[in-house]
Amino acid sequence: MDRTEIIEWLREEDESRLRGLWERADRLRRENVGDEVHLRGLIEISNHCVRQCAYCGIRAGNQALERYRMSLDGVLACAHVAVERGYGTVVLQSGEDPGLTGEWVAELVSRIRRETPLAVTLSLGERSLGDLRAWREAGADRYLLKFETSNRALYDALHPPLPGTVSDRVALLRGLRGMGYETGSGAMVGLPGQTFEDLANDILLFRELDLDMIGIGPFIPHPLTPLAPAANAGPRTPDPEPTDQVPNSEQMGYKVVALTRIVCPLANIPSTTALATVSGDASRQLGLERGANVVMPNLTPPEYRVKYDIYPSKGRVQVATEEGDRLIREGIEAIGRKVGVGRGDSPRRHAAGAR
Ligand code: SAH
Repeated sequence: MDRTEIIEWLREEDESRLRGLWERADRLRRENVGDEVHLRGLIEISNHCVRQCAYCGIRAGNQALERYRMSLDGVLACAHVAVERGYGTVVLQSGEDPGLTGEWVAELVSRIRRETPLAVTLSLGERSLGDLRAWREAGADRYLLKFETSNRALYDALHPPLPGTVSDRVALLRGLRGMGYETGSGAMVGLPGQTFEDLANDILLFRELDLDMIGIGPFIPHPLTPLAPAANAGPRTPDPEPTDQVPNSEQMGYKVVALTRIVCPLANIPSTTALATVSGDASRQLGLERGANVVMPNLTPPEYRVKYDIYPSKGRVQVATEEGDRLIREGIEAIGRKVGVGRGDSPRRHAAGAR
């Protein structure tokens, strides 16, 4: 599928033709990654952050937010809950927090790998190649680093680099792959200033980067950020023509999930929390029926979960309490799918190994 066709689909509004898109994505999902839905337990280990991302509620500039950093034992306890729930992976996520030292994270990763059968995914932002290498050696399996938008000017406006540094997530992703990580990236849909062409380029960049995991969610405005619904003073590139601005709608989120499945058939694609935030369980289900094959239940203890406030309402959906876990499983079975067993490693790796 080329850029022109992707843009046509992104602009498509005819329900019956869109049904064809959903069916094509769902068929490719079944043929390439099967009916298993893998559950990854998300642990939000720190909300400290040194960055000033214009879209994100835990940006350094948000002084209204109380900050936390979990203890090593606290994170390990959550990892053991993941095992009890039957998950194959934990995803450790945080703001970009130098207080999570290279040594501390390495110790945490190696303890989880020694004490549990879990795969470990890290999503700790832009870190030094030295840290990333040490964590891989400690046993980390996967790294998630969304490039957020492939439009360089928009990225720089929304995700300013630390003073004296360059933020090049694409280069970091290539470095991670070279270290032997399964690599994941992704983008937000409907960022202010994002055009349909930008979004098509995001999807093509997923393919070019040869990703194992691709996370897509609609941009959800946070009131305590420069992109708050009422604030028009936020940093952005010159506004596109109104007809070129991508809406941050649920529907647009599904289109990008479906097109991503078509363009990257072997990727693990979550039905993301951002998608589920829009209209709850129903949107998670639709994501799974339109290309996605992964769900990330949230294992963060409630007192921290509410403070990992990257966008509104995030702490309320897809929670891995016993009850929440049961609902997620029932939802998966209700659409004729199976809950995955084992680590749910990248099907791309198996395919590559089999060649
Ligand atoms: N600090 C890490 C983890 C980021 S939080 C990093 O920078 O990689 C995980 C993801 O949440 C981000 O990559 C971004 O895509 C998403 N996110 C942040 N703010 C958001 C918002 N307002 N709406 C939707 N998604 C958002």
